Amino acid sequence: MPLWGIDLGGTKIEGVILESANDTKVISRLRIDTEADQGYEHILDRIVLLVQKLSAESGLTPVTLGIGTPGTLDPITQTLKNSNTTCMNGKPFKKDLEAKLGFPIALANDANCFALAEARLGAAKRVMPDAEVVFGVIMGTGVGGGLVVHGKVINGRQGNGGEWGHIFLDESGGPCYCGQTGCVETVIAGPSLQRYYESISGKKATLKEIVKSYEAGNDPHAQATIKRLLEMFGKGISVIINIIDPDIIVMGGGVSNIDLLYTEGIAEASKHIFNTKLDTIFLKAELGDSAGVFGAAMLVG
Ligand SMILES: [Zn+2]
Repeated sequence: MPLWGIDLGGTKIEGVILESANDTKVISRLRIDTEADQGYEHILDRIVLLVQKLSAESGLTPVTLGIGTPGTLDPITQTLKNSNTTCMNGKPFKKDLEAKLGFPIALANDANCFALAEARLGAAKRVMPDAEVVFGVIMGTGVGGGLVVHGKVINGRQGNGGEWGHIFLDESGGPCYCGQTGCVETVIAGPSLQRYYESISGKKATLKEIVKSYEAGNDPHAQATIKRLLEMFGKGISVIINIIDPDIIVMGGGVSNIDLLYTEGIAEASKHIFNTKLDTIFLKAELGDSAGVFGAAMLVG
């Protein structure tokens, strides 16, 4: 049966139809603007429009679909929360969209879709197809995580399953938009690293520039910023390893392109592991921007 997936972003909505769960050949793939500034109802209508366009292009009619959203559906209240597309927060998004589409849908946040796609189609599938537990992390402008066990996303009682970005890491991160202090995101997200660099050097620099300066070895502030990243990454990810002990951790997002994470970052993590050695396999994500929409389709496959 073909799998339909939608990746809802703040600026674009992408949709895909895959041949089946076992054959991920793309039948159709389309993108339209979200036009989120026109409000919640309009976003729902845009998703319906994209489904109609996919249907017209493929000649297929969906009976269900998976959708990846910014934010999480609270399993208890059935409303969306923690979305940076703020007009969606507090809305019964799943129920409203199902009413407009006329069929049931499966929903997960974008980090969970990322983890699912990399587990079932991407890096983890390639390296260890029979992996029992895969943890996916996105380290970019924010930090997110997703937990996949036996090929299924674990959403959790509150819908917070895998939410690595907002567990406590270090007071020095300062206040987080989520209301807590010192979340992983406030310490190791791209903007957090830039903020830290500026706080010690008095200069603004992009993450790329900081990494370049680090590699050139001529900027003590870049050295300090990257050294702190590696230490904090190690501390933060060791918590995940000590609790769920995944076979594989797949990492995506801009910060994950820093190669030192896969050597010195892992060495830092190994200092905090409840074991004599660290066997967890760390992989760079392989599906790029496609992970969101492919993972959404996998929600129903
Ligand atoms: Zn937070």
